[in-house]
Amino acid sequence: MTGPQQTPEPSAAFNARLEELRRGYAKGLPDEIALIRQCWGLARTLPSFDPLILKPLRTHVHNLAGSGATYGYDRLSRLMQDIEQKIDLLADFPEDAGRIVLELDALLAEVDTTSVPSGEQKNWAELDIHRPRKRPDKLKVLLALAKDSPSSGLDEQLLHYGMEIRVCDPEALAERLVEFHPDILLFEEDAESNRICPSLRNLFDQAQSQSDNDKMGYSEKGIPDIFILNNQPSIATRVRAFRNGAREVLFNPPEISALLAKIDDCFLEQVGGAIHVLIIDDDKELAQFHANVLEQAGFKVEIAHTAAELEQKLGNFSVDVILMDLHMPDYNGIELSAALRQDPSLYGVPIIFISVEQDIVRHLGAIKVGGDDFLIKPVAVPYLIASVETRARRGRELRSLIRKDGLTGLFNHVSIEDSLQQMLARAIRSKTDLSVAMIDLDYFKKVNDNYGHLVGDRVLIDFARFLKGRLRKSDVVGRFGGEEFMLILPDTSVEHGRALLESIRQSFSIVNHNTAATPVRVTFSAGVACHPDFSTASTLIKAADTAMYQAKEQGRNRVITASRETLQTEGGNGE
Ligand code: GH3
Ligand code: MG
Ligand code: MG
Repeated sequence: MTGPQQTPEPSAAFNARLEELRRGYAKGLPDEIALIRQCWGLARTLPSFDPLILKPLRTHVHNLAGSGATYGYDRLSRLMQDIEQKIDLLADFPEDAGRIVLELDALLAEVDTTSVPSGEQKNWAELDIHRPRKRPDKLKVLLALAKDSPSSGLDEQLLHYGMEIRVCDPEALAERLVEFHPDILLFEEDAESNRICPSLRNLFDQAQSQSDNDKMGYSEKGIPDIFILNNQPSIATRVRAFRNGAREVLFNPPEISALLAKIDDCFLEQVGGAIHVLIIDDDKELAQFHANVLEQAGFKVEIAHTAAELEQKLGNFSVDVILMDLHMPDYNGIELSAALRQDPSLYGVPIIFISVEQDIVRHLGAIKVGGDDFLIKPVAVPYLIASVETRARRGRELRSLIRKDGLTGLFNHVSIEDSLQQMLARAIRSKTDLSVAMIDLDYFKKVNDNYGHLVGDRVLIDFARFLKGRLRKSDVVGRFGGEEFMLILPDTSVEHGRALLESIRQSFSIVNHNTAATPVRVTFSAGVACHPDFSTASTLIKAADTAMYQAKEQGRNRVITASRETLQTEGGNGE
């Protein structure tokens, strides 16, 4: 029983591209080797071996050492590594130069200009490149819950976030899997009744045997991610769940916003989009090879070969992880990373150094200081993908802890103000409009007083998700404080900003935030101000805030726009 071929075109195209790269590499190899010979021919007659003079030679040798093995030229790669080591010795121990020169001559004589791949030919088609799952438009979630489950209200809450939900008895799980094909499965365990989640494999074998159609629909969409709900998760529970193929064990009942975040994490194309990788390597072919592999795995990749290119790329590419060659002609990776670390916008962006073994060993101390990671060339493809992905995710988590509000996941006060500064500068440069909206929930204190703080919190989370769902990717939303929010809308006039807020106001006012019998509805008041009417971040915020208070005074649940005139007549400071 063989599964259907999964989307053959991209992988065929991928293999063709790799094959092309490999052919290009083979073609350029004799010239590369001739160049190294030539460099050495010149260098060996010098009276002293200054590292600076040896640098071009070392760079060429180093690149061949790294790339040779990637393309199957293992013998060549090993020879180059030996040569590189000797070149370093030459600079470090001038008293032994006579002997080392002869050794280098001998090593170079071993290099065959018509080198052929000597290592194991890598079969690219067999590389199992993991393709990340895309988040479906309507997420299907199956809850396997016991009758008196503490999580019994969960289905209704999840429904509220636009998911399709089914609830079933844990005993009937296999049947339900056949009919429903969920993207996410939540399985409630119970230690007392000995009910534990069966292993993923058993589960699907069982479901498969109950299905007439042996594909069961899972081959195209992938097997669901499984979360275990457990009242008292222990390390043993978690290890068993992991062995059985579950993603994570959560407390039962799970906290809704935490659960939503965990569900988001299952999909790469979540808020924030694909992982962005910046490759810095002077070896163009190897950089291109790594880029192709990572793009195939769903990452967005940019390449910089020089520090100048790097600077330019960083200006218009938000980076999640940097993959850096340790040895480059102008700077070494350690120096470059020290420079990058001083840029506050790169805070928490992990750097993965990639180099041949000797280099890594030499710089281990410096690499460890940065808390980053290193990979040894040639890097096995699955290992490259896994390292980039884990580092990028951790970096994202770290940065979002600093920049984001814990309850809603929106930008916090400081970072939304930073964003406004940057976006306003861009709007001024490009002479485009930019609207800012301040939003404050109405009578929010009463929500807390009447229904409790937890319901209040839920309204805030709902509102955050609601806003994110209604805005464009280029818009930015932050929690300014308590129940006050700020939106930044680039390329938006005050009229358009007002119309957007008005439509959000109307649809949000009918959302019910309570799962209990009494409905809870909340409205908001908003003020909108626009650049170029107001030209600095602080005047924009002040104008939008003043307009928002006017909306409160006029009876709440409305949107008011700020104009310079009204602010001035009220004694406000228009500029
Ligand atoms: P108004 O229409 O004038 O804005 O009335 P209001 O009750 O919304 O305004 P007020 O400023 O009097 O009260 C704000 C309330 O928001 C009080 C505070 O307890 C609540 N609040 C602020 N942050 C949070 C939070 O994180 N969670 C919850 N549940 N409540 C919060
Ligand atoms: Mg309020
Ligand atoms: Mg308030």
